[in-house]
Amino acid sequence: MSDWTVYKFGGTSVKGAERLRRAADLVRKSPGPVVTVVSAMGGVTNLLVRAVEHSRQGLVDHDTVRAIRDAHHEVAGTFGISLDPIDAVFEELEALLTAAATLRGASPQLRDRVLVTGERLSARLLAAILNSDGAEATAIDADTFLETDDHHGEASPLFGVFEASAHAALSPLLEEGQLPVVTGFCGRAPCGSTTTLGRGGSDYSATLIASAIDAQEVVIWTDVPGVYSAHPGVVAGARVVPQLNYREAGELAYYGAKVLHPRTLQPLIKQSIPATIKSTFDPEAPGTRIDRTVTPGAHPVKGVSAVGGHALISLEGTGMAGVPGIAQRVFATMSQAGISVTMISQSSSESSVCIAVPSERATDGVLALREAFRLDLGRGDIEDIRVEPDVSLVAAVGLGMHYATGVAGRVFSSLGRAGVNVRAIAQGASELNITFTVDNAQSDDAVRTLHDEFGLHNADPNAPVSGHADIVLVGFGGVGKALARQIEVQAGPARLVAVVDRRGAMLNPSGLSSEQLERIRTVKAEGGSVASVDGGVETCDPVEFVRAAPASGLRTPIVVDVADGDTSALHVAALESGADVVTANKAPLASPQARYRQLTDAASAAGRRIRAEATVGAGLPIIDTIEQLVASGDRIRRLEGCLSGTLTYVLGRVGAGDTLATVLQDASDNGYLEPNPLVDLSGEDVLRKAIILSRTAGLDVADDQIACEGLVDRSAIDWAAPAPSFDEIIDRCAPLVEGVNNAQREGAVLRYVAVVEPGTVVVKPRAVDPASPLGRLDGTDNMLLIHSDRYATSPLVISGPGAGVEVTAMGVLTDILRLIAERHAL
Ligand code: ADP
Ligand code: ASP
Ligand code: MG
Repeated sequence: MSDWTVYKFGGTSVKGAERLRRAADLVRKSPGPVVTVVSAMGGVTNLLVRAVEHSRQGLVDHDTVRAIRDAHHEVAGTFGISLDPIDAVFEELEALLTAAATLRGASPQLRDRVLVTGERLSARLLAAILNSDGAEATAIDADTFLETDDHHGEASPLFGVFEASAHAALSPLLEEGQLPVVTGFCGRAPCGSTTTLGRGGSDYSATLIASAIDAQEVVIWTDVPGVYSAHPGVVAGARVVPQLNYREAGELAYYGAKVLHPRTLQPLIKQSIPATIKSTFDPEAPGTRIDRTVTPGAHPVKGVSAVGGHALISLEGTGMAGVPGIAQRVFATMSQAGISVTMISQSSSESSVCIAVPSERATDGVLALREAFRLDLGRGDIEDIRVEPDVSLVAAVGLGMHYATGVAGRVFSSLGRAGVNVRAIAQGASELNITFTVDNAQSDDAVRTLHDEFGLHNADPNAPVSGHADIVLVGFGGVGKALARQIEVQAGPARLVAVVDRRGAMLNPSGLSSEQLERIRTVKAEGGSVASVDGGVETCDPVEFVRAAPASGLRTPIVVDVADGDTSALHVAALESGADVVTANKAPLASPQARYRQLTDAASAAGRRIRAEATVGAGLPIIDTIEQLVASGDRIRRLEGCLSGTLTYVLGRVGAGDTLATVLQDASDNGYLEPNPLVDLSGEDVLRKAIILSRTAGLDVADDQIACEGLVDRSAIDWAAPAPSFDEIIDRCAPLVEGVNNAQREGAVLRYVAVVEPGTVVVKPRAVDPASPLGRLDGTDNMLLIHSDRYATSPLVISGPGAGVEVTAMGVLTDILRLIAERHAL
């Protein structure tokens, strides 16, 4: 490999003085020797095509020539460079067009010579600009050294021949420290005439030259910052794909991603030369790197592209079933007629074969097929050969399809839902793409639908596939919202695929997009249900939704319960349908023993897990620590502590003299309160945590050995009614204020303390020494003292912030990530 690099500037990157200046800067600043390949200024090749067309009427299109000349003269004027080399090209152009007009139309050779005028002009301009800046640049015409066949208009390089001549033309210049500026798009036929490589062919010129000089890299500078997951003009949310394998990029280009000429990558593969697509307007952005690596990514599909201008020819007839070789005969016929077949599809019953061919060759194709299948038609084995003009080919591309199951199913069911009518499908044996035809009018819809279906807007398609898991989020209150945001920001292996509330659900098996989540947030903020979000569905019960998860294409999701109320049935349904459960909701794990037993039985029967770190101490590792101790053979003797950050906060502020009204309001504003604050104040919330801890510690506690003395009367909670107002709550809080005052009079502080011992759970207020560990607690801090056989003389202490939606969501996310890591380790 040499240390040479090839830069290619496309039409938009050389159009006008300002852009040429950028291009020249990039060439000058490149770290090593560069061969530059240029296209014609954007639009110029089209103008030249028009001028050639005019010559058929015997006319020289002087207006067009003048327009092209003015554009180039203007640039030359801006940089103060000589017009001579440019005007020499125009002299030849006038002569060529005059000859074409005399002949009433250009021969293929003449046409190609006219079409490369744009490249010849921009190469000369860029070289002159570089020279005017003190560099040593030389413009070179590729039709002096890039050997091709004589297929004018769509020539192919003569592999094994062009490499040596290209190397011989360029390497002496590079070795002398010169900057060659080469015309793209063209080559030289064996007879010496100029050929072109097909529209958009300068990309191909660049990679052919790169392979000839064994370059270390090709950079294709264009007007977009890389290869997008779909045409950015069709899909507003398309993203730049950071990396593509040669085959993936090639396939996207073949099926219409105009950013690369379809044959661009082929010359690079043998020597593994990487190509990077970058924007001249944002040169610092990383762009898309195309190389030999395969990164299947979290998404089986990396990009979707579409190409119009095709016709679908189908051969139909029941007599074709079981007859071998029909497809081969179709291919052979097309190849003899010189028609390229872009796609072939055979129905599974073999009663039809469809091919897509360029529209302008459809009539020739049908005639050739009628001739070749004359006997079959006569016998009635083939009933008809039909043509549908004006179809587009759409391709979903990604090597990850090979590893994922059900991609084709998702493609076609999503298109069905979107009302896109698929004409023919080629999914074949290729592990790389699924291609189908639709009417031109539905092409954009098809691309958007697939882009959405595979979540290509919102996740890095190159993220590792191995560790990800689908998250079904039940509950979208404070914690749910915070969690959704954390998952989005983290962009890690957890992928949020569904949000469920009491009345509805929204599901996107490839991951809810930022836009979809935003819609949910908006509707929820207005007090609505997910059911009324655009794209949401009504479900009469979250349990039903979770039970149906496998049928919705979710394999082994993690059901995350951040809802309110007793969701035991939901947990059982989730476990039975094969999901793991992560819960911040305490109710199911603190339910009466018999119900709790059903839950643990369901988990062990299904071989699934329930993780509940966030139920106690929010994000603090309390449950995990106790589990570790027990698992390592330690025996828990006593757990004691303040398990409610909310109550520590409320009691602390009231003790400092703040009124209950302000304290409750602040607690609510900070997200510290349960939906019904009486659940906090009555000790119910702490009681649940204590029960969960006793169960985690393996200390069986009978339902009747549980005692709770609240700061307000626990029987005041009406579970069926909506949460009471702050005024109603304050009315009930006299004992709380009195307790705080009494403690203070004795020189103590009031804390709400849980004590778990073998056989008993007690939660109640207690006056403690302000200098003791519990007395020194501040803010929303939690503290748990673990006394065990191992920690007999002094307890193991865990403390830290233990309330608030963000820390709770963090605790939930930790559980999710642990589950994913454990699954991965299996
Ligand atoms: P150049 O003149 O630099 O060769 P082209 O116009 O040939 O540029 O190609 C770049 C254009 O390709 C972009 O401006 C964009 O409109 C279009 N395009 C189509 N599909 C894609 C895609 N998947 N990713 C990026 N660009 C695409
Ligand atoms: N100028 C040529 C075209 O417009 C080649 C290219 O731009 O790559 O097709
Ligand atoms: Mg191009």
